[in-house]
Amino acid sequence: MSNFASGFNFDFDFDFSGQHVLITGGTRGIGLGITRSFINANANVITTYLNNESAKDSLLLEYEQLQSQSPTKGKLEVIKCDVSKEEEVKNLYSHLENSYPSLEILINNAGIKRDSIVGTMSSDNWHEVINTNLNAVFYTSKLAVLSFLKNRYGRIINIGSVGGKLGLAGQANYSATKAALIGFSKSLSKEVAKKGITVNVVEPGFIDTDFVAELSNELKESYKQMVPLRRFGKIEEVAYAVLCLANKNASYITGTTLEVSGGLS
Ligand code: NDP
Repeated sequence: MSNFASGFNFDFDFDFSGQHVLITGGTRGIGLGITRSFINANANVITTYLNNESAKDSLLLEYEQLQSQSPTKGKLEVIKCDVSKEEEVKNLYSHLENSYPSLEILINNAGIKRDSIVGTMSSDNWHEVINTNLNAVFYTSKLAVLSFLKNRYGRIINIGSVGGKLGLAGQANYSATKAALIGFSKSLSKEVAKKGITVNVVEPGFIDTDFVAELSNELKESYKQMVPLRRFGKIEEVAYAVLCLANKNASYITGTTLEVSGGLS
């Protein structure tokens, strides 16, 4: 099996040949790890981003290099789409319907944080986080389910956060969205259970990404001390959990939450 990125020395031994995966926010951080892992596993990947063109370009370059060295069966398409805007999500799905025979897997990964204590949090920061982390998941999941019904098969994996359970100070907006994803996923899983569709949440703890790079060294150290494994997780460690749940054999796992946090909560 070929490896997507140099230094990406994780081979998961999954095979998603012939399957189509939509990953929101798959050009950086955890989403990038998920994109690489599905490509390694021969899936056709459609991934979105918001506005970071250089991250998009470097993903496409990485993919071209991989294809020239050791081609994978899967295709990659990277699409600019603000998933917090319902109209843009509708356009995205129209494009998918016209370009691909089917959709089997949706990974709702795009997420932002706008940290501040509630007393000083602006309404804009509240709504921006709710729109991206929660409303977007409704827009994409609704259309994914309609598409999945055609084949009576589908996998939805929502990227939550242990912050949804722990409620870190300064993250009320973020924690509220991540807690809400659990309720949303449980309800949806019950609605679609008989249709061969599963819906689950993967909850990362502290993962080495731009998300945590912004923290001061002092804060990073204190967070590491909170983690029983005493380190931050790697993007491929989250991707592994996602691919497990996305696998066709994960057919009896639905409405649940899988924590990838080094034992944090
Ligand atoms: P990053 O900030 O590294 O990457 C976020 C990705 O989402 C980027 O590709 C970004 O695009 C995209 N994105 C952001 N907003 C939108 C939008 N409105 N529409 C489409 N794409 C968007 O995030 P992480 O990898 O750190 O986090 C990914 C997920 O994991 C999030 O849901 C986060 O809450 C969760 N998580 C992360 C943890 C961590 O420690 N990193 C811990 C727990 C949970 P662009 O590059 O164009 O900005």
